[in-house]
Amino acid sequence: MIPAVMPTYARVDVAFEKGEGAYLFDQDGRRYLDFGAGIAVISLGHCHPRIVEALREQAGKIWHTSNLYRILGQERLAQRLVDHSFADSVFFCNSGAEAMECSLKMARKYHDETGNPDRYRVVACTNSFHGRTMATIAAAGQEKLLKGFGPAVEGFDHVAFGNLNETRAAITDETAAILVEPVQGEGGMLPASADYLRGLRQTADEFGLLLIFDEVQCGIGRTGKLFAHEWAGVEPDILAAAKGLGGGFPVGACLANEKAASALVAGSHGSTFGGNPLAMAVAGSVLDVILEDGFLERVQAIAKGFRGRLETVAKAHPTVLTEVRGKGLMLGLKCEVPNTTLSAKLFENGLVTVVAGDNVVRILPPLIIDESHVEEAVGILEASCAELSKGA
Ligand SMILES: *Cc1c(COP(=O)(O)O)cnc(C)c1O
Repeated sequence: MIPAVMPTYARVDVAFEKGEGAYLFDQDGRRYLDFGAGIAVISLGHCHPRIVEALREQAGKIWHTSNLYRILGQERLAQRLVDHSFADSVFFCNSGAEAMECSLKMARKYHDETGNPDRYRVVACTNSFHGRTMATIAAAGQEKLLKGFGPAVEGFDHVAFGNLNETRAAITDETAAILVEPVQGEGGMLPASADYLRGLRQTADEFGLLLIFDEVQCGIGRTGKLFAHEWAGVEPDILAAAKGLGGGFPVGACLANEKAASALVAGSHGSTFGGNPLAMAVAGSVLDVILEDGFLERVQAIAKGFRGRLETVAKAHPTVLTEVRGKGLMLGLKCEVPNTTLSAKLFENGLVTVVAGDNVVRILPPLIIDESHVEEAVGILEASCAELSKGA
């Protein structure tokens, strides 16, 4: 018999009841160090007092009005994002896939508005991930996401991630935009090189295309900058953000420069729930914390030390781990054993992680971790690798 909850996930048989900072507690009171952060969502840890307070306060005032009216929380949060990024304007939605939908619609509309309605195709990367809507599964170029859901949404051409020559060769008179994750997450925690991102920017300018960055996973402080592309010193025209933005509250955002954003006018795009006052209060307080003086520098410092420690463990256990990759606190352990085996062993020993493609275990701790959490995680990894080496 089919379960009441539709069986679309392969869930671990545990239900967490409480979260506190970097820790989760299950029904039996067992404690886990949460270095999965709900897939890079719990950016400030569980139940951070500042965001709990922001939610409580907003919950007693007003929850929802629809976008038929001004929402002051949107205006405030959008201004903060604009002040701290390439963007001139922001559209709020509820998820990463929706932020991507807005990005893709904007790219098509931009060319339509500027007299090139034939330009609608997007050059995207194989092995990428952009969400689970019809358009975003077509954008991702992964057979396993599309299988059974055809015909795929028209208009995506796929090239290898990191390959500028292939990208240039795929551009035609019908190309509207180039889409890339500055750090591929689901694909296996692979950072794009600064040269590649700069090359994409130059290429987009040369052919009159819009450059779209999907920073749903790598954005909002995850790599030690507010947005991962800042490391390369290039700016996109459009950017999708979500996961870490709400610190656990569902919210997404499509950021754009004036050129691209001008394509959308009243009536051209919308969302009933998008930018709702509760989401805006929470995301606003998440951003307040992340943008505080020294916060991102602290993320960079802790990430650097952590990575060094992970590399030492990897070297000591070459039969289990082959490589440490990623950027900032978006780290990946490339495994020699099946990634699910390592992840399950870590879980058994009290460390929560998330698997990714390319046989990688993702390490995505809350951005608020300190040395003691790093110490604890490295200890569990070390012990788990030792157990798995012995078994081999
Ligand atoms: C998770 C993710 C998405 C989709 O976000 P949802 O909120 O699940 O719709 C899109 N792009 C990237 C890079 C992601 O990691």
